[in-house]
Amino acid sequence: ECHAGEMERRQLHNTIQELKGNIRVFCRVRPLVGGGSSDHIQLSPTDNKALVLAKSEESHVGRTGDTQKTYNFSFDRVFGPSASQQEVFEEISLLVQSALDGYNVCCFAYGQTGSGKTFTMEGGDSHQTMGVIPRTVQQVFLAAQKLTDQGWKFSFTASFVEIYNESLRDLLYTGKASKRPEHEIRKSTNNEITVTNLTYQKVTTEDQVQNLIAIANQNRSTAQTNLNDRSSRSHSVFQLDIEGENVGRDVRCKSTLCLVDLAGSERVLKSQAQGERFKEMTAINCSLSNLGLVITALANKESYIPYRNSKLTYLLQSCLGGNSKTLMFVNVAPEPDSFGESLNSLRFASKVNDCVIGTASANKK
Ligand code: ADP
Ligand code: MG
Repeated sequence: ECHAGEMERRQLHNTIQELKGNIRVFCRVRPLVGGGSSDHIQLSPTDNKALVLAKSEESHVGRTGDTQKTYNFSFDRVFGPSASQQEVFEEISLLVQSALDGYNVCCFAYGQTGSGKTFTMEGGDSHQTMGVIPRTVQQVFLAAQKLTDQGWKFSFTASFVEIYNESLRDLLYTGKASKRPEHEIRKSTNNEITVTNLTYQKVTTEDQVQNLIAIANQNRSTAQTNLNDRSSRSHSVFQLDIEGENVGRDVRCKSTLCLVDLAGSERVLKSQAQGERFKEMTAINCSLSNLGLVITALANKESYIPYRNSKLTYLLQSCLGGNSKTLMFVNVAPEPDSFGESLNSLRFASKVNDCVIGTASANKK
């Protein structure tokens, strides 16, 4: 039973989604900052799902002229440098909305540092540059408000966690730094994931959530000054738990919406990383590759899914696979010197794109 006014549109959306499985991959190429050119990235003017990466190779002895090696990729959608935040969000708004129908929804931004993950997820301060997280919050509250006319009542709980070096940090913590608690991920008997000592804030208005997001950003940037640019080496996970009830119709639904800004995916030369940097690199490689493994295992319907091999996948367990819809952004930097990293990111994302995970079904009782 669908409870929105725009039932048909959503049913169509769900049908399409189910036909394809419940994972989407969107690629986004950010604009060039500070001039230069990005001839190595070719976006088709007619096909908004295709992208070609081309590399000129130096001519070999005895041959004249440059040869070009090309790599073709296709995703559910490719956004070029001129795509606005609004355009990007329009493509995912139905997915986000399905969280109110009882689907778990998980959206990630994957890519090297500087490729536009935070811009995509959080965005800037102006209305125009608002990213996926604030737009999602806005939409969820608007949609929930509309559904109250049909007898629905919703309650929301927000949390915001950072995972750094395989340890969790509460981004909504406002107490004394010296009293910061430790956190453990726990799985209850009914398979619900919770984090010990974490702030789970009940919220009733959009403004309250936007305020929490501001606190989280503040918390993230404070840590950054101590440990220069830590945010690019940690994952941040915004989670909104939604419970809906329609007493008149005797229907309840429950879901979790997760929006994740992943750590930078760049490969660091082992020889260059020492001490703390080496530890960070190992933790990031482990969690990002495990994310890939989890998605692949789900796609292959394997009986064992290695969720517990990293904090990230363990935390997101209920939002990945089974009853959930997943969207991954692969963010790409257009500068020629990012060619290698772009190729790696696009290959990872292609692997994810090829996966078709089960069929999503809503959590209804
Ligand atoms: P990441 O989080 O992947 O490290 P950022 O989101 O911080 O990367 O982006 C790097 C820089 O590029 C930032 O200054 C950001 O504002 C800018 N940027 C990224 N994507 C866009 C975009 N689509 N339009 C305009 N500026 C962007
Ligand atoms: Mg960032």
